Amino acid sequence: MNSAQINKKSIQFNKDLCVECGWCTSYCRFGALSFDNNYSFLFKAENCKGCMLCLDACPRRALYIT
Ligand code: SF4
Ligand code: SF4
Repeated sequence: MNSAQINKKSIQFNKDLCVECGWCTSYCRFGALSFDNNYSFLFKAENCKGCMLCLDACPRRALYIT
């Protein structure tokens, strides 16, 4: 599980729920989400605008904010 700070909040990623569809990375217009070659979740907090579209895009609810 990875996390990063967004305006004092944190996006969390549950790898157990992820089906690697890539929708979240497509929905993020700011390039804050990507996966590496091992499909490890990469989050660039400096790019994130906190719009939360990625949370809604995930069909598995693998992304969430705390
Ligand atoms: S909250 Fe918005 S800007 Fe941040 S990673 Fe998700 S889609 Fe991208
Ligand atoms: S949208 Fe959800 S299930 Fe799909 S790659 Fe992103 S985190 Fe994984």
